[in-house]
Amino acid sequence: MKIINQTSAGGIVYKKENNQTLWLVTQHSQHKGWVFPKGLVGDKDSGESMEAAALREVKEEGGIKAIIVNKKPIETHYQYRWTGDSIKKTVFYFLMEYVSGDPKDHDWEMMDAKFVSEDEVRKTLDYKSDKEAFEKILQEL
Ligand code: ATP
Repeated sequence: MKIINQTSAGGIVYKKENNQTLWLVTQHSQHKGWVFPKGLVGDKDSGESMEAAALREVKEEGGIKAIIVNKKPIETHYQYRWTGDSIKKTVFYFLMEYVSGDPKDHDWEMMDAKFVSEDEVRKTLDYKSDKEAFEKILQEL
């Protein structure tokens, strides 16, 4: 069994609408978990920065354009087994603000993407590390 370290980046994206703050959540097409959009840094371009990867993933998986509002990301970790190997994943989430686009335009990697209220985010997210990242991000708003 090999241990493989992977680094992903993504966005925790908010949108101000009618005096309410809404948040982007996405449902993964394969494992079906509700998560924030994210993906491997340098997936398509080996020189890609974390910020560029996070913005690209938000566009691809979340269907929308956003801007980064905190330069320092929240760091999370989890581990899972994949074809006999152990993947140790570090994810950097940037706080982002929605600019344009529709979550319905997400790509195939996600089966759903939508903006929901803060309470709904807490009920919807499936993983502890994402829930913790969300609580930390709220403190930065
Ligand atoms: P990436 O978007 O980083 O390229 P991926 O889409 O290939 O990753 P993951 O979302 O990392 O895949 O899912 C791989 C496995 O890890 C799945 O079994 C999933 O259930 C699990 N997983 C995903 N997110 C978490 C998490 N935050 N905590 C624990 N397990 C997770």
